[in-house]
Amino acid sequence: MRKLLLTSVAALGLAACASTEAVDSKAAPTTAATAATSATPAAPATPAAAPAPNTQAVSRVVDLGQGVSMLMGQGGNLGLLVGDDGVFMIDDQYATNAVANLAKIEEVAKGKPKFLVNTHWHGDHAGGNEVFAKAGATVFASDNVRKRLTGEVKSIARNGAVTPASPKDAWPVVTFASGIDFHLNGQTIRAIRAPLPAHTDGDVFIFFVEADVLHLGDTYMKDRYPFVDTGSGGTQAGFIAALKRALEIAKPTTKIIPGHGELATRADVEAALAMHEGARAAVDAQIKAGKTLEQTVAAKPLAQWTPRFGGAGSFITDDVYVTVIYNELKK
Ligand SMILES: [Zn+2]
Repeated sequence: MRKLLLTSVAALGLAACASTEAVDSKAAPTTAATAATSATPAAPATPAAAPAPNTQAVSRVVDLGQGVSMLMGQGGNLGLLVGDDGVFMIDDQYATNAVANLAKIEEVAKGKPKFLVNTHWHGDHAGGNEVFAKAGATVFASDNVRKRLTGEVKSIARNGAVTPASPKDAWPVVTFASGIDFHLNGQTIRAIRAPLPAHTDGDVFIFFVEADVLHLGDTYMKDRYPFVDTGSGGTQAGFIAALKRALEIAKPTTKIIPGHGELATRADVEAALAMHEGARAAVDAQIKAGKTLEQTVAAKPLAQWTPRFGGAGSFITDDVYVTVIYNELKK
C-alpha cells in the first residue's frame, strides 16, 4: 500500500511530504545499483537506468514582474527576486537537486542567493538549505522550522518513522515567531506566519508587496486536497485559518504561488477555502449523525469537491482527507 503510494508520488514528482521524500531518496541508490548490476555488456540494448529521483534543476521560470519569478520543477515551487541589492529566494526543494538548482539560479539571477526563506521544514521545500547556505545564503524561517530541522522537536513521518535532524548547515540562522520584513530591490517583502498550525506548525507566507505576488507554501496546493501533516503539528482547522488570512492579504490582482501546482489567483484560493469549510461541515454532519469513521468514509461526503480537488495531481485522496477531518473533530 505504502509502496504504491510512493510510486505514484514519485511518478508525479509531487513528494510534498518529507516522509515520502526521505524514503524515495533512500530507495533510489538501491534501484540504481540493481539496474546497474543487472545490465550486462552482452545486452547493449538494455535501456539506461532512469535518473535518480529529484536530481533535476527547475525547468520552468514564470516571470511575475518587477524581478519576481516562480521557478517550477521537482519539489515545491520556488520564489525568486532578482535585483542589484542581491538575490532573494523562497524555498530550495530537495537536497538531491540543490546543486543543480543553485547552478540554474545563478544562471537566471546572475548571482548566488543572499537571502533564503523557508515556507516550512519539509524536505521538498527546505531540503536544499545546506547547499545554499554553504554557497553564502542566510537562511530565515519560523522558529518551529528550526526546531524541526535541528531535531529539537521530533517530526513523525506518515509511516510512523521519526525524521532525523538535518545537517547543522541546513538550520535557519535567523528565526521569527510572527513575521519579518525584508527591503531590497525596490520590494517590501513580508514573511507572515500562518495564524494556526495548518500544513505544519511552522508555516509562513511570503508577500512581495509592490510586485503583488504571494507565496503560500503548502498551505495551498492548487486544486488539490491538502496534506495535513499531523506528525508535524498540522491541523485542518489551521488550513481554514491560513487561507482566511491569505485572503486578507491578497487582492483580486494578486498572483499566488502555490506550494505545488500552477500559478493561481485569489479566486482559486477562495474556492479552496470554501472546499475546506464545506468538507469540515460535511464530515461534522456525519459525526453528529453517529457515523463511525468507516461509515463516514463510505458516505463520500466530499463528492462534490473531488472532481476539482481530487484529480490527477493530488496525492491526498478524498478518503484520506475525510479521515483527517474526522479524527480531528473527534479529538
Ligand atoms: Zn510540505
